[in-house]
Amino acid sequence: MGEFDLIETFFWRRPGQGPHRAVVGNGDDCAVIAPAPGMQLAVSTDTLVEGRHFLPTVSPARLGHKALAVNLSDLAACGAAPLAFTLALTLPRVDEAWLRGFARGLLDLADEHDCELIGGDTTAGPLAIGITVMGEVPTGQALLRSGAQVGDDLWVSGCPGEARLALEAFRGSLHPGLSTEAFEATRLAMERPDPRVALGVGLRGLATAAIDVSDGLLGDLGHVLRRSRVGAALSLDALPVSPWLATRSSDERLDCILAGGDDYELLFTVPPTQRERVAQLGAELGLVLSRIGQIEAEPGLRLWRGAVGTAEDRQAVPNRWTSFDHFKGGA
Ligand code: ADP
Ligand code: MG
Repeated sequence: MGEFDLIETFFWRRPGQGPHRAVVGNGDDCAVIAPAPGMQLAVSTDTLVEGRHFLPTVSPARLGHKALAVNLSDLAACGAAPLAFTLALTLPRVDEAWLRGFARGLLDLADEHDCELIGGDTTAGPLAIGITVMGEVPTGQALLRSGAQVGDDLWVSGCPGEARLALEAFRGSLHPGLSTEAFEATRLAMERPDPRVALGVGLRGLATAAIDVSDGLLGDLGHVLRRSRVGAALSLDALPVSPWLATRSSDERLDCILAGGDDYELLFTVPPTQRERVAQLGAELGLVLSRIGQIEAEPGLRLWRGAVGTAEDRQAVPNRWTSFDHFKGGA
């Protein structure tokens, strides 16, 4: 199967297949898209490389899902609604069964979010998947890392840490290991993350800053704090704990939640006057939203034992977690 047959068979979206904004979809030299009046385009790129971002054991359908999910997560963090994406695919060989599974995982998630595949590039080489995603957000309403204000509450969605627990299980570094049930559940979190697109859109005009947790909660929080020129106090006792992490030792649990990475949850700041609205949004979306700390004027991050927002009974905890960095080794 040649390059063009491959593209046509697996990645062509025929006209009328989507409800979308592409004036010209894939198949021409460029795709042409028309953002709606009053909207700005939000654009982001993420690449997944075998051995670095995913294990060779992942199923092609889950890989297709994840490649788009991590990109949609960036749109979510900006409060942008998905519009379209391009796919740069580097393949070691043409394996039709693999391509079928990959395309299904990818395009099912794309359809779920009305995000149209409008073009791409296909080359031979070590397996890598590069996606550029485009979304739209009302002019001036994109959620940025730089907007956190002193006094804001700090929130996180879902239960970060499961993906890292699964990764450590794959590495054989957990003692005791995971039960089959725990392994399958956490593996799902690692291989098939659910991008928080509806939450991001719901946080427009509500959150002052947002970021998605891809490199670890504390590392990503650090980006918000530096960009916003503020500090934060975070209560370890307020962190959401997934049932699978609850069974692990306290050290392992905190390592996974605070520095695990690959979570694709949203971390965001909201003025304390809006707590009701955040709670309502969480209820509407069926999503656990946890208030884990607050923004302070003093730069840096302070970790505490004790309830959020109480000055008494706060016990400082030294920060032994640093962000994962691709060029320093690590996960
Ligand atoms: P060109 O050489 O003009 O850049 P290509 O031969 O790379 O064009 O691609 C032909 C058409 O197929 C283009 O419209 C391109 O966007 C689309 N395309 C190529 N690879 C992919 C892919 N992996 N997924 C979706 N569309 C693709
Ligand atoms: Mg090309």
